[in-house]
Amino acid sequence: MNTIINLSTHLLKKKISLEKVQLSEPNETIYPKSLEQIEDTIFFIGKSKGIKSLYIINQGESPLINRFNGQNFLEGKGKICPLSTENCKIIRELFPHTIPVSHKGQAISVGLGDRLGLASAGHLRLAEKYKFFPVLAQQSIRELNLTDRNYREVLDSASWAVFQEGYKGGFGADGDHLKTVEEVQYALDTGFTMITLDCSDHIDNGVYELSKEEIDKKYQSIAEETRNKLEDRYLKSSIKIEEDFELFFEENEFKKIVLIYYETIQFTTFIYENLLKKYNDTIDFEMSIDETLYETSAHSHYFVASELKERNVKVRSLAPRFYGEFQKGIDYIGQISKFKESFKQHVRIADFFGYKISVHSGSDKFTVFSIVGETTKQHFHLKTAGTNWLEALRVIADKDKTFFRELYEFGANHLKEAKKYYHIKTEESDIIPLKEVSDEEVSDLLNNDKVRQILHVTYGIILQEKNKDGDFYYKDKIYNLLNQYEEEYYESLSQHIGRHLEALNVEKK
Ligand code: ZN
Repeated sequence: MNTIINLSTHLLKKKISLEKVQLSEPNETIYPKSLEQIEDTIFFIGKSKGIKSLYIINQGESPLINRFNGQNFLEGKGKICPLSTENCKIIRELFPHTIPVSHKGQAISVGLGDRLGLASAGHLRLAEKYKFFPVLAQQSIRELNLTDRNYREVLDSASWAVFQEGYKGGFGADGDHLKTVEEVQYALDTGFTMITLDCSDHIDNGVYELSKEEIDKKYQSIAEETRNKLEDRYLKSSIKIEEDFELFFEENEFKKIVLIYYETIQFTTFIYENLLKKYNDTIDFEMSIDETLYETSAHSHYFVASELKERNVKVRSLAPRFYGEFQKGIDYIGQISKFKESFKQHVRIADFFGYKISVHSGSDKFTVFSIVGETTKQHFHLKTAGTNWLEALRVIADKDKTFFRELYEFGANHLKEAKKYYHIKTEESDIIPLKEVSDEEVSDLLNNDKVRQILHVTYGIILQEKNKDGDFYYKDKIYNLLNQYEEEYYESLSQHIGRHLEALNVEKK
């Protein structure tokens, strides 16, 4: 690590100015954008022999350096510090741009789930170019379990990436698809700034199967006072949302909606009242009703939103289940014109109540992106996650084809298991045997929807596999490769998510 030391010596002796610092050799890298100075103390991120560390150099007598854990160098004038939680805590104190914040007032926010904790720097390079607010740390409990990570690690990865890239534009952290009080509390306690409440367990889909008589009967079981209030609000007259957009609730349909969504509203209100209200709008609260079997109608959306308003529950965004299919990692499936028509209604309802529409499973939905951008007048939240993992695999397919073949085959053999966690259409009979695929065609496999879906959902099984000695079978090698080809990974993410932003018509800075 002589080159980093040489450079540090120059910095120490003020022989080189911060702006001039550049270094990138096979085993030694520094990240020039990470350079920061507080009085006589200089900070930067460097990588030596594959290990990233925080380097601190003291030109004067500042005691700042003593606060960090690490190993002395430059005869005690410098310290090499691991990118640990303890050190990250001090970095956040000294450099507030590494603390996640709410996206209140930001027209476009994009969730960029990073399952490996390696992608954020690539995303930030895009955020420097396009006008959107990045929500870097976005993981669900399901993802945490499948990758064996925790929220602390997820948030630390994001903060370190922000420091590495010197990004000062603000970023968010989303506790995604949280289902219980404990999960919401966990994300809040860790410092997450966005809470996505997954209400799917409280949506009563059984109601769709009931006859009119059964619906009537069930509806009668709701307290009379509640029914009267609701009927007053929805059945007395049609509801005008805009000059040319009115909703009329037909009685039987109304009862159905009440029965399907009433508990969802109670649950959301309970979470808001008890956990979120005290934050005074500094946390982005999203209600998600997307992970359910049936499309959210305009009437249902209006009903949910209006009941939340009635209870003074403030949401920053709401994720309905849209018309058509938003399957993981592949393009939109469904009739585009119908999507456009129903999406427009959802947007108008969201505008009416003053929150953003949130588009979940938003990766790779290229055929509807222009509609999303245009209809919302560039005012939306979009979530992507698995696609960033697929881009990691693209780098691997490019650099180590044999290893990629192994990963794919292992994933494909465990598709059935993975389908317990994720709903995708791809079946075991869709698996492409790799024997028939030449080396030249391997990289192309990631453009095949079936292959994408298989790898999209089997990440947990791939990452967790261990040999009989208890060592990871694939995980370490995946991390090593991506570490080695770090810049290629950032470039690949930049291109791929960049295509999303272009299709959404997101303005350049
Ligand atoms: Zn979702």
